[in-house]
Amino acid sequence: MRTAVVVGAGIGGIAAAGALARTGWQVTLLERDDRLRPGRGALVLWPNGVRALRGLGLAGGLDGIATPVPPVGIRRPDGQWLVRPVAGAGTGALDGGDVESPPVVVHREDLHDAFIAGLSDQVDIRNAIEVQPARVRRERPAVGDGRTTFEADLIVAADGVQSAIRRRLAPATSFTSGGFAAWRAVIPWYRIPDLPPGLPPHGETLDGGHRFTFASLGERGSSGGSTRGGISWVATVPGALRPEPPAGQLALLRRWFAGWHAPIPQLLAATEPDDLVQDPIGELAPLPETFGVRAGTGGYALIGDAAHAMPHHLAQGACLALEDVATLQAVLANVRGPLGPALDEYSRLRRPRATRVLQQSRKASAVLQPRGGLTSRAMGAALGRANPRTLDRAAAAAAEWAGPTSS
Ligand SMILES: Cc1cc2nc3c(=O)[nH]c(=O)nc-3n(C[C@H](O)[C@H](O)[C@H](O)COP(=O)(O)OP(=O)(O)OC[C@H]3O[C@@H](n4cnc5c(N)ncnc54)[C@H](O)[C@@H]3O)c2cc1C
Repeated sequence: MRTAVVVGAGIGGIAAAGALARTGWQVTLLERDDRLRPGRGALVLWPNGVRALRGLGLAGGLDGIATPVPPVGIRRPDGQWLVRPVAGAGTGALDGGDVESPPVVVHREDLHDAFIAGLSDQVDIRNAIEVQPARVRRERPAVGDGRTTFEADLIVAADGVQSAIRRRLAPATSFTSGGFAAWRAVIPWYRIPDLPPGLPPHGETLDGGHRFTFASLGERGSSGGSTRGGISWVATVPGALRPEPPAGQLALLRRWFAGWHAPIPQLLAATEPDDLVQDPIGELAPLPETFGVRAGTGGYALIGDAAHAMPHHLAQGACLALEDVATLQAVLANVRGPLGPALDEYSRLRRPRATRVLQQSRKASAVLQPRGGLTSRAMGAALGRANPRTLDRAAAAAAEWAGPTSS
């Protein structure tokens, strides 16, 4: 039986471990944390992400946990429109744009549960194992944490933006800050504040380089809504990560977004420090030369943020990780001999695709959060100049992906 070690139990790693195990591989999943924890916050899944889930046989897991995101447009802090939503042709980065169906939003914990349910008995889960770059062998697929060495035919690097495996295999690649920090949170259903009637359940607001987006995850357990429910939001501001403890960060967020239209201050007031996750926003540069590295008769595959972390403005990182997994599963499906040709094919399919989405993502971030932080008025003019529909096109180009064998 073929063996695989998957390093990192984020969205990409858990999906990869399940996909390989369901197709007959014996899989070991290594995670540095002491248990498999879902990420906090919510994720927008575009049609390409849903298509990848379908390819993996996991799309059924979205039943009852996914809430459609209709076109939301873009507002100024005073609530006036910078860009009005147009049904079927959105302009906000969260809008459906020219793609065939609207994106959906899911609670990361709900998606995690669906993926865990998709892991088979073939997956041996090892927690509290932190793979060290120095323990990644180039001549034969093997990784280790300094105490134990794990060998396999295939090692899948799903260990995120600071990937230890990538550092060893693609040392020229590193994370470059985009000059922004982002916070995400989900306010659980039982703490949702009373909001003025008639407010849309989703929104995006920009000013002076600051951006706030929010999306309703529905009622807890409501049919067609998220299992956990709540309201998710993401705030992005220029600057480096904040060193304050979470309560101090929350106080800053409340100050920065004070006076913005409802429900933004209300959502921040209902958020608790423990709800917050802070992330640096940036990209991997240059992208690794290859996402598949041969080693002996086996090799390594880089997936997800380990291969192509990028700014979150198009909300595509997790969708691309799922595309990676669906593609890897497809290219490995009928391999009998050495894995080298399949890994080359994986890289041939995935690297150009990730490069294109990274470029679209840069365009979206330059329009939505230009360096220097434009005021609402200047932002309105810039968005006007950015026509025809730069954001739509960026979003649509990112979301178009026909399936595991398309590049
Ligand atoms: C603010 C924000 C909003 C976003 N919104 C969206 C969105 O709406 N839609 C979307 O598609 N994407 C979105 N993204 C991107 C998305 O979150 C990421 O692309 C995705 O989570 C990457 O998943 P991953 O599995 O590759 O990596 P990760 O989720 O980072 O998982 C890596 C795992 O590896 C483990 N690990 C790390 N190092 C080691 C080691 N040395 N040894 C063992 N284990 C290790 C970690 O503990 C972790 O469990 C957003 C990102 C941000 C910052």
